[in-house]
Amino acid sequence: MKQCTQRDAAQLLYNNAFSGILISIIASSFLVFAFNTAEMRQFKHAWWVLMTSLLLIRLVDWHLWKRRDINRQLNGSKAILRFISGANLTAVLWSVYILKVVANPNSTDIDLSTHIIIISAMAGGSATVLAGHKRTAMFYAFILLGPPSIGLLLSGIYERQMLGILGFLFAIVMVVIAKKNAEFTAQAILLKNENALLVHHMEEKVERRTNTIYELSNLDPLTGLFNRTAFLQNLQQQLLAAQKKQQSLAVLFIDLDGFKKINDAIGHDTGDQVLNNTARRLKDISANHQLLCRWGGDEFLLAIENCDEQQAVQQSEEIIQVLSAAYSFQNNRLSVGATVGIALYPQHSENEHSLIRLADTAMYAQKKRSPCTVGVFSNQLEQKIHRELKLKDGLSQAIEKQQLSLAFQPILRAKDCQVVSFEALLRWQLDDEMIPPDEFIGIAEQYGLIRKIGLWVLDNACQIASSWPNEQALSVCVNVSVTQLEDHDFVEIVKHALHASQLPPERLHIEMTESVFSSDILFLAEQIKAIQDIGVQVSIDDFGTGYSSLSTMQDLAVNTVKIDRSFVQRIDTNGYPIITAVMHIAQALNYSVVAEGVETEAQMNTLRSLGVDFLQGYYFAKPLPESQVVAFINGGAETTSQQA
Ligand code: C2E
Ligand code: CA
Ligand code: CA
Repeated sequence: MKQCTQRDAAQLLYNNAFSGILISIIASSFLVFAFNTAEMRQFKHAWWVLMTSLLLIRLVDWHLWKRRDINRQLNGSKAILRFISGANLTAVLWSVYILKVVANPNSTDIDLSTHIIIISAMAGGSATVLAGHKRTAMFYAFILLGPPSIGLLLSGIYERQMLGILGFLFAIVMVVIAKKNAEFTAQAILLKNENALLVHHMEEKVERRTNTIYELSNLDPLTGLFNRTAFLQNLQQQLLAAQKKQQSLAVLFIDLDGFKKINDAIGHDTGDQVLNNTARRLKDISANHQLLCRWGGDEFLLAIENCDEQQAVQQSEEIIQVLSAAYSFQNNRLSVGATVGIALYPQHSENEHSLIRLADTAMYAQKKRSPCTVGVFSNQLEQKIHRELKLKDGLSQAIEKQQLSLAFQPILRAKDCQVVSFEALLRWQLDDEMIPPDEFIGIAEQYGLIRKIGLWVLDNACQIASSWPNEQALSVCVNVSVTQLEDHDFVEIVKHALHASQLPPERLHIEMTESVFSSDILFLAEQIKAIQDIGVQVSIDDFGTGYSSLSTMQDLAVNTVKIDRSFVQRIDTNGYPIITAVMHIAQALNYSVVAEGVETEAQMNTLRSLGVDFLQGYYFAKPLPESQVVAFINGGAETTSQQA
């Protein structure tokens, strides 16, 4: 600020300098040459040479100032010093000259009056011309008039003394005016600079606000990466550019694996740090930060220009590798993985929204199939997902729309082929299509619909079984999913189904697939025990295909093992030794064994010879509609089977 005011003062002084210097040249020349007397000539000429030289130097200084580089920050105080040195020296020279004239006894009254008038005029002018520097302006006005006036007062001649008084009064008035003028000017300069400063501050504030608004609306506050809105805009522009240049573009949907665990187990602060580090790593490996964003949660998006499928896959593999490297926080080493889904422009879509959606789809499918790897979108994938969503929507209303039914497949005692139980198998008719359970059960499990559906199956299976003839005491086997068994209310649900149907507990069997072994085995064992405690039997379904091991068989202490039909189908080859092994263990651990998928007499005979207790399969009967079960029971195993 001080620098600015000094610069302005210097500017003002120099702007007025030319006229001031010109007047001094004219006045000095006029006074020297128009009032030339013999005894003063030498002095006057010498003085004139001195004065003119000084004025010429000042002119050069003024000229240099005028031609200075406007853009350069110039030093105001130095310029002022230069200027006032010149001005004060001029004033002193004037003062010397006038004093000499006044002191000269031969000076006439006309001489003196003319000199005083001219000097007064110059003193008056200086009050304005030198307003940029108060002391100089005051000094100039005073030094020009003060000393000669005193000289005149001391002359002892009345007229001259009068002139002296006049000059002196004039000097005082001029000094006061110069002072006022300079103060006013200084004030004006100060105000001007204060305003400029104010405007500057306001501009800065506005700029800061604009930046903040930009950041708030375009950047993710945690990672500093672009947010959705900004990314979508950038991607849209990039797609237009790609279209013009006829180039491809890949959109990578990056989703962290295992992030939720860190967040839940260690805390959100650590979670935030992981996200921050992930963002930094992604920044380091991405060429164009405009096309990188945090899409939300632990999802990131990266678009790569001019990139085909092969390059995109390669880049994605690098990204997974980089993001999977361990982080160290407070002496802890943590690591997350990442799954990447890729969608390509223009093959898969030309629109930014759908490219992102397709990349997301590819990522989602890939994560289910094999996390921490790369998946590229394909039309088959789209169809698959489309169907999945259709089935999910349909399934959520299947009970209300009465689209579900149960089929029952008999299970026979091996030694005498007597039907001992029926397995309840769920059927779903969606409009004109029978959807196979292998397809919809998985979807029901995934989307949390299995509990409601499982409850319906259990209730209905018990209800139907309770209506079967009592004499044979036929059991019903109900399939149950992991999620159902994990339900803390499951035992209550079973009790409720038994109570509502009045089916004796020993006539209900629960079949659980081996995949349940992947969950909390201790809790599972407790649930099985609780189910058995109310008199219901439990079997392991599809034994040999899933995750089961001999030790889990021991831990779970079920009643029955169902050998998967794939082993029965291969009974002539490598199925045989496996079934033999299962039989040994089952006998040792006291399980009964059911063989599923028996399709031929030969299979039946072999299974019998191996000591399998029960048999189930198309050879005996396909799953029957509910309405045919009683007829089947009454007609025996020979009744012609009909598939349901
Ligand atoms: P699963 O429990 O292993 O059921 C036996 C499946 O094998 C049934 O298929 C049945 O029709 C079929 N099958 C029976 N005998 C033969 C045979 O001799 N040859 C051949 N090739 N297949 C035979 P389905 O009814 O399509 O059921 C498939 C799977 O769906 C079931 O396998 C079961 O895991 C699941 N599922 C069915 N109903 C339910 C249910 O109510 N709840 C749950 N959670 N899962 C169910
Ligand atoms: Ca089953
Ligand atoms: Ca099975």
